[in-house]
Amino acid sequence: MKLLIANGHLIDPPAQENTGMSILIEDGRVSAWLRPSDAKPEDCEVFNASGLLVAPGFIDMHVHLREPGQEHKETIASGCAAAVAGGWTSVCPMPNTQPINDNAAITRYIIEQAERAGLANVFPIGAITKSSDGSELSEMGEMKAAGAVAVSDDGRPVPNAGIMRRAMQYARDFDLPVIDHCEDKSLSSGGVMHEGKISLLLGLKGMPALSEDIDAVRDIILAKDTGSHIHIAHVSTKGAVEAVRRAKAEGINVTCEATPHHFTLTDKAVEGYDTNTKMAPPLRSPEHLEAVIEGLRDGTIDAIATDHAPHHADEKALEYDRAPMGITGLETAVGLAFNELVHKGIIDLARLVQLCSTNPAKIFKLHNRGTLAPGSIADITIIDPDLKWTYKNADSRSKSRNSPFDNWEFTGAAVATIVGGRIVYRR
Ligand SMILES: [Zn+2]
Ligand SMILES: [Zn+2]
Repeated sequence: MKLLIANGHLIDPPAQENTGMSILIEDGRVSAWLRPSDAKPEDCEVFNASGLLVAPGFIDMHVHLREPGQEHKETIASGCAAAVAGGWTSVCPMPNTQPINDNAAITRYIIEQAERAGLANVFPIGAITKSSDGSELSEMGEMKAAGAVAVSDDGRPVPNAGIMRRAMQYARDFDLPVIDHCEDKSLSSGGVMHEGKISLLLGLKGMPALSEDIDAVRDIILAKDTGSHIHIAHVSTKGAVEAVRRAKAEGINVTCEATPHHFTLTDKAVEGYDTNTKMAPPLRSPEHLEAVIEGLRDGTIDAIATDHAPHHADEKALEYDRAPMGITGLETAVGLAFNELVHKGIIDLARLVQLCSTNPAKIFKLHNRGTLAPGSIADITIIDPDLKWTYKNADSRSKSRNSPFDNWEFTGAAVATIVGGRIVYRR
């Protein structure tokens, strides 16, 4: 079957921007770019993309899909439905399922469930240590052979530097990036929000920024020592952004991502004790938010990832201290990126596509993705940058509704999501 995405504004950073071009898709791949003057091919479905942006499919490097084990929060199918509604053609789930994805059988199960759902591509992330308990290394090679694209003990970061060093050496031998949730729990344990003036005022226990800074610096030193690639998840502090900037200048193989909530909200949002403002790392004070935005602007930060972390309403309906960490994010990320970054002139469209597609594809070595070049896999995100819309938790495709952005108004949204040449979502 052939599909023609006609007359769109193509944004493909390696090839630059092109207005009024059409893309022909055949057998799940981009087969050609056509100029307005070229003859239209016959016998093909036409998607009129006039006035719309056509970008390589967005890849969310950091989600939690909860299956297997916590299907009351999310399933792979419901998470993928939320993903494609948010413009993401691929998602990479963290291993903290029940059981933990620390072996090839679970990696394979996740991929099979994703294939059954038939919506977004799912590229699993395996655990660094067995049961993510920080002691014995997992079978990284077997997980990679089964389809894992990276390893991480997200949320339960490896506390022991010696084990982390061996993990990096081991991952390097399999050419797998190590994704690092930077948090020294000896400093942050028991904390429920950013440590600062507002945590004092609210009487809530804080998680200091230096808990993130120290772990980031430790693991950058280990990356230099081992020559492995580390990818720092959800950077949220000025110190961590600066550490990555210095490391890159030194030629150390480090990349990092930032979440929409960390470039949008500060710890002030916690004042109403809404448990949908509770996550790790926490919402930080304005100086940290500004450092994250500067990192997104100047290229220090490589990717935007949601850290989509669904929790059931009953679990979040507890006192602030007791509620679980995490918020949903798949359906609001593109709107937030337009509101907070693109429309404010902080980044341009080519940079947005780098952050959401080109760089994630490079970091996880997803060949033939993150590009619209002829021959590439036809994963495509189509965006209306001027569409005004309101996000409502009640309308979410996710099984969970724990977003702090309920009733937020956005300008800019994904209006169609194409995976492997198939239109899997249309607004
Ligand atoms: Zn994390
Ligand atoms: Zn996470």
